[in-house]
Amino acid sequence: MRNAESPEPKALKPVELEALSQPLSASNDPDELHEECGVLGLWSPEPLPVADLLQLGLFALQHRGQEAAGICVSNGKDLVIEKDLGLVTQVFDEARMQRLRIPAANLGIGHTRYSTTGSNLRFNAQPLNVRSSKGILAIAHNGNFVNALQIRQALLEHGAVFQTTNDTEVMINLIARYAKLDLVEATARAMRELTGGFSVVLMDRHTVLALRDGNGVRPLVIGRLSNGGWVFASEPPALALMGAEFVRDVRPGELVWVDEAGGLSSWQVLEPCPTPCAFEWIYFARADATLDGIATHPARIRMGEVLAREAPVEADLVVPVPDSGIGAAIGYSRASGLPFDFGLHKNPYAGRTFIQPTQEMRDLKVRLKLAATPVVAGKRVVLVDDSIVRGTTSGRIVQLLREAGATEVHVRISSPPIKFPCYYGIDTAARKELVASTHTLEQIRALIGADSLAFLSEAGVREAIGGPVCLACFNGQYPAGQPEEEVRKEALETEGASAL
Ligand code: SF4
Repeated sequence: MRNAESPEPKALKPVELEALSQPLSASNDPDELHEECGVLGLWSPEPLPVADLLQLGLFALQHRGQEAAGICVSNGKDLVIEKDLGLVTQVFDEARMQRLRIPAANLGIGHTRYSTTGSNLRFNAQPLNVRSSKGILAIAHNGNFVNALQIRQALLEHGAVFQTTNDTEVMINLIARYAKLDLVEATARAMRELTGGFSVVLMDRHTVLALRDGNGVRPLVIGRLSNGGWVFASEPPALALMGAEFVRDVRPGELVWVDEAGGLSSWQVLEPCPTPCAFEWIYFARADATLDGIATHPARIRMGEVLAREAPVEADLVVPVPDSGIGAAIGYSRASGLPFDFGLHKNPYAGRTFIQPTQEMRDLKVRLKLAATPVVAGKRVVLVDDSIVRGTTSGRIVQLLREAGATEVHVRISSPPIKFPCYYGIDTAARKELVASTHTLEQIRALIGADSLAFLSEAGVREAIGGPVCLACFNGQYPAGQPEEEVRKEALETEGASAL
């Protein structure tokens, strides 16, 4: 029954109703950072239900990309690819799985995609495949090559033909171009030519290769099956679901492949200079993942602890923004001695969101996803989240808490302000759209309507993670290079600004 004092619900306009009926991927929320992609590879010395195992593994990597999914399998003779736009469960219906279940399959690769380069079109879904002098090759990629444009241009001038707009095709074309080298050597050569942050799995009809850029920006781990087979995955939880035991991380700059004897061979192709993405620990990677020896959930708790030390506040309750702020809120609560509680309920069925053509739709979207719980009534709340991109969602959440009776809302963010774009596979939006790039701390506080606002410092992130990390989206220092065209654009903007 509606409360007599509640305002009449506003009727939605036809365009809004139409928009609500069109589920798109969760990744179109402009106020969230978007995961990049998830990659998987599997090789077995004997036939296995490869497609089913890869489907399971991709399901464990769904959080790394919700726009498209694909699987490629082989039995040494045939090679079959199935891919499409959508979630893993949508793409791999029974008909597709039947086509992938080829007799005697023993190897394959898989991919979940969020389109950081190349638009969200079916032909950009991965794995990508090419016919080359080395036979059919298939590739799946997480990250970005910052010099992809230049290499694409050079390849085009030498007669290469591209079928997609994504930079993964650049690598597979580079590998195919080295006709006189074997697959391992050609892949190593391509690794040396490409810069940026990338983790890649690659297969022909006989073997699987896996590699990581010299900075190890994106994660990639190795697992062992009980039959002597090998699995490569973006994150360890995929290994567990596929029945593989974690062996180790692929090292930054390392190329590994399954050799003819079924062993794992390794080549340290690039000088390792580890600066993995800090955001893997802040938010992206699963809470049950351990990357490069550092477990994500405990790291998030430490971020909250350091944040409480750096930015204490008098309050009654610590409330996380679910799910991204839970770990840091636990840490903030522990270090501050303030009680922790779920002051926001997340609708578990609101994972996929809707297009948002109007202001009302954006408000509705937050309310579809989150609702304040009665525990916040009459309380001074510390609201903990992992990041602020544009600031609009944070403002709406603050408003939800106030409407539910919170007397004060103090926002604490477990990462530094995001001021620069990411060129290594995370969609951080253009610089001018990042609220911390264009507003002062006090302006952001006013914008989101909080009583106070504080971010974790860069030193705090380093302390909590406990190893060297990329912090480029906070400080603009890009450890794996910047695209030339972006450097030129920045220089022009600077020149323009100083001429004013
Ligand atoms: S720029 Fe930011 S999001 Fe991109 S790799 Fe570095 S830390 Fe991660």
